[in-house]
Amino acid sequence: MTTQIDRPLSTAMPVPDADILPLPRLHLADPRTRATLRIQQALLAGAREHLRAGGSVEMTHPIIGPVTDPGSRGAKQADIDFYGHHYKLMTSAILYKQASLLTFDRIFLVAPNVRLEPIETSSTRRHLAEFRQIDVEVARATRDEAMDLVEGVIRHAVTKVLAECAEELAALERDTAALQAFVAAPFARIPHGEVVERLRAKGYPQAAGTEIEWQAEELISRDAAAPFFVVGYPKGSRGFYDKESTEDPGTLLNFDLIAPEGCGELCSGSEREFEYAKIITRMRETGENPAKYAWYLDVVRNGIPNSAGFGIGVERLTRWVAGLDSVWQATAFPKLAGVVSP
Ligand code: ASP
Ligand code: MG
Repeated sequence: MTTQIDRPLSTAMPVPDADILPLPRLHLADPRTRATLRIQQALLAGAREHLRAGGSVEMTHPIIGPVTDPGSRGAKQADIDFYGHHYKLMTSAILYKQASLLTFDRIFLVAPNVRLEPIETSSTRRHLAEFRQIDVEVARATRDEAMDLVEGVIRHAVTKVLAECAEELAALERDTAALQAFVAAPFARIPHGEVVERLRAKGYPQAAGTEIEWQAEELISRDAAAPFFVVGYPKGSRGFYDKESTEDPGTLLNFDLIAPEGCGELCSGSEREFEYAKIITRMRETGENPAKYAWYLDVVRNGIPNSAGFGIGVERLTRWVAGLDSVWQATAFPKLAGVVSP
């Protein structure tokens, strides 16, 4: 596998890196694209198998609505005019996932999301402005149970790829022994504060009490011997729906899964706030106007179960498993921040 992980994020005036994407006809006809998309197909089939075997029901959710997930790390929401009403394209299905627990206890979906990421992400090699998530929600689950499920899904999906895609992995020169080893052992669960300390020990000036920066995340990902979870991000770094710890106020009961090999984050998830009064408080604390969330708050006021869930980035998982340089290579029609493409 070739990597260019040393390429820094742009510090100059942000301009989209428009030269990254090849012409669509060249990308679509590239044998590497064909191999990658077959690997992605096996990953999705493996994830579905594992989730359905555990009793989860696959749903389809809206791609537009009056509000969407506000918690997406610096990205802007895309507006659409819905017959004179101000609608959004989904940045994530979180509101619908919680509401869907009125129908089923365990749900999942393979959902498209649009996040208008900052221009400088056109060259991070791990951001797309349009992507898919394997989005999961489980009623009455704890954070640990959610992480167990993430592990199960990824282990099963990667094992399926190893069994079914030998030719494709060989064509992409993926080290399959490494891949096998990555999913063999349990994924470590490391508190956010400890990750901050490790970064500082390496000389990276990561601030405490805030989001792990993208370059820092790449650094810990490059150092990792296996996928691992960062648990307990500080309040303020994520959306209102990540539940705040009662034992450790200021800390959220959430997690990210970090892939090894410099690929960075594959998945975010959490236990959820589900009580009306707490959600209103958290919305206000995060600068959200509760009035915008009328339909969701009506559902919540009448009672939803406590739950935990997560979203696994389909293209990021594919990039890592296929051993690709960049996440755009893991989709037939990539959209990068600020770059015009089909
Ligand atoms: N979908 C994720 C979740 O369920 C959040 C995200 O979209 O990043 O927590
Ligand atoms: Mg995330």
